[in-house]
Amino acid sequence: MTAIIIEGALFVALLATVGALFYFVIMYFTPVGERYRQTQNRRRLDSAAELVCPIHGPRSSTELVRLTSGELMCPECYKETIHG
Ligand SMILES: [Zn+2]
Repeated sequence: MTAIIIEGALFVALLATVGALFYFVIMYFTPVGERYRQTQNRRRLDSAAELVCPIHGPRSSTELVRLTSGELMCPECYKETIHG
């Protein structure tokens, strides 16, 4: 009974190791992985740029105002635009 449990656990560990190795090879040794990482870099920079208002400077994501169109806006710019 113990041997079956150990064998099952080792099989799961083998699957996890093979999966992690496959992920590592895909992400770091293929053009697909490089393209994916470049896309992640763009998303990271875009989301960081959304947090900086060109007039009022950097804001935290919790301070921003989401418009009905889905775009984010600095609260100061929102007040100036909507309430004058
Ligand atoms: Zn602003």
